[in-house]
Amino acid sequence: MDLKDALPINKWGKNIKKPFVIAGPCSAETPEQLLSTALELKKLNVDALRAGIWKPRTRPNGFEGMGIEALKWVKDVKAESGLPFATEVGSALHVEVALKYGCDILWIGARTTVNPFSVQEIADSLKGVDIPVLVKNPMNPDINLWIGALERIHNAGISKVGAIHRGFSSFEKTKFRNTPNWQIPFELKRQFPDLALLCDPSHIGGTRDLIFDISQRALDFDYDGLIIESHINPDEAWSDASQQVTPARLAEILSELKYKTESSDNVEFISQLEQLRNKINNIDKDLIDTLAQRMIISEKIGEYKKVNSVTTYQNDRWIEIFNTRKEWARKLNVSEEFVADIFKLVHEESVRKQEEIINNEITKA
Ligand code: PEP
Ligand code: MN
Repeated sequence: MDLKDALPINKWGKNIKKPFVIAGPCSAETPEQLLSTALELKKLNVDALRAGIWKPRTRPNGFEGMGIEALKWVKDVKAESGLPFATEVGSALHVEVALKYGCDILWIGARTTVNPFSVQEIADSLKGVDIPVLVKNPMNPDINLWIGALERIHNAGISKVGAIHRGFSSFEKTKFRNTPNWQIPFELKRQFPDLALLCDPSHIGGTRDLIFDISQRALDFDYDGLIIESHINPDEAWSDASQQVTPARLAEILSELKYKTESSDNVEFISQLEQLRNKINNIDKDLIDTLAQRMIISEKIGEYKKVNSVTTYQNDRWIEIFNTRKEWARKLNVSEEFVADIFKLVHEESVRKQEEIINNEITKA
């Protein structure tokens, strides 16, 4: 089965609108907490309620979720709020009981996605099931691990499979709890344009203040939906207290977000876009042409280096290139980091080409 054939989110059911919003507490704590949060969220017209039943904690002795006891609350909460219920599963046993107690949507957490054994075990336990299953990105920025997990679930016959972008763990401290690395979900979208993609701003941000901006970015990037942690009393939450928002705050966030469409039928907009895109096309052709010319010269240098037995990599020259290009970028108001990244690639390719020449027996020069 090809993951490209997974159902796009608008085919998951009747009246599925974009953005598809799943909201709810990090963890189901008590029947009252779950129900009161659900009733408030229902007023916001969210599409589904989320709550963790089993919590994967980094270190032991933290709150590990209420487990099956909390699943027993799901039936009443669903009946009273009218919201479908979504939760995380980390094993075949979780799947079995989650389905038994009426969970409507399942997701695989970031710590589970990294382990193909666990994902396959979950996939096998899902055979014959027809509910949406979402796969969070793995903790580490490995797109193939993410795609592999999505494929395992899809191969088990789950057509409503989708991805959740929740950011990536890193040793470096940034303002995010998990760095977004937007280029990874972009690459996922490039390879699987119709695959449902949700953003989890709560686990990317780690603090309430960042939820709005990350959500807006995701909508600007044409994500299909959001999964946001919301708790009736966030400061007292038993897990992830600092990143949960009250349903009232979530209402503000959802109403302030600017919803965009991928295309527009405004004729003037379409024609302007086309003109500008044509300009970009020409500039890109020139860029590639320039790169090709640069490469020819670099190959010539490689040949001279070979004849004169000089090393391919010349530290002083690289330092000079790196610094001057950043300086030129700064003067033109182009991001220095961006230009530095580009020149790292250009230099790497030059060195690779020169190595090819130097290690080749026949000298062209
Ligand atoms: C969660 O959604 O509460 C959770 C544990 O998420 P993640 O797997 O993204 O850490
Ligand atoms: Mn959480």
